[in-house]
Amino acid sequence: MEIPKSHPRYASLMTRHKLVEGHRNGLTAPEGLIAHGRGEALDYLLGERTTEWAARAQRAAAAALLLATRPVISVNGNVGALVPEDISALANALDCPAEVNIFHRTEERVSRLCQALRGSGCVKVLGDRPDAKLPGLDHPRAVCCRDGIFSADTVLVPLEDGDRAEVLVKMGKNVITIDLNPLSRTARAAHITIVNNVVRAVPELVKEVSELKRDLGAGKLDSAGLDYIIKGFSNGENLEGSLDIIRKGPLERLKGQRPAPNSGTDGK
Ligand code: ATP
Repeated sequence: MEIPKSHPRYASLMTRHKLVEGHRNGLTAPEGLIAHGRGEALDYLLGERTTEWAARAQRAAAAALLLATRPVISVNGNVGALVPEDISALANALDCPAEVNIFHRTEERVSRLCQALRGSGCVKVLGDRPDAKLPGLDHPRAVCCRDGIFSADTVLVPLEDGDRAEVLVKMGKNVITIDLNPLSRTARAAHITIVNNVVRAVPELVKEVSELKRDLGAGKLDSAGLDYIIKGFSNGENLEGSLDIIRKGPLERLKGQRPAPNSGTDGK
């Protein structure tokens, strides 16, 4: 179905369309479609935009990724279907691997996601030959790559499962996530949570990284400057701020708008 650009819900409908295509092409699990529904509902309440809290978290995340010695980007079925080009651009800008790591693991789906990343120009793609396990998790969710997530010092894990995020934190890694739900276990376990839709957050992260790299190259910024950006960020405050928008934002947007008068019998 052709979605006209003039449709007021164009961006949201296109995102759904991409995910359904991703499912048809063997990238996204059916459970991923349901998980997207939860995210979409929260995005609706947040106003389907990058809030000031998300923008701050994105800047801190870009600084943390640039300061990392072994950054890795974890890619699941939703992310691989929605933003493969932006993930590839981010991994290439950071000169780091993107590792396919999925919750409902099948080798077929892993291989298709790796292909999608390679096809989008990602230089370092991992995931199809796992050789390590995260401690304390059952087998399919534990497998990962030794040169990737297992030995990373900083991991970007968008739309991650709470158990795995907690294990990564326990392993001493710096964990950055993108999750529209400020109440999820992942959002609360991570060091930096970007409460934003991956379709906005990942391209904006690419921009942040390239701006910070430009300033580093021009000598306007150094590693102490990156550290200063990270230290100025509080995940707790950021999650509270995002929750506050979910609580009050929709009512503020509706102020002054009255529902259409009831044309029915109204109980008479
Ligand atoms: P947790 O185990 O961390 O508490 P969960 O089990 O509630 O998480 P999952 O189903 O593992 O949730 O993951 C889906 C998460 O991803 C949800 O929090 C959902 O809000 C979020 N999400 C879904 N789609 C998007 C999207 N496009 N961008 C960002 N976040 C999204």
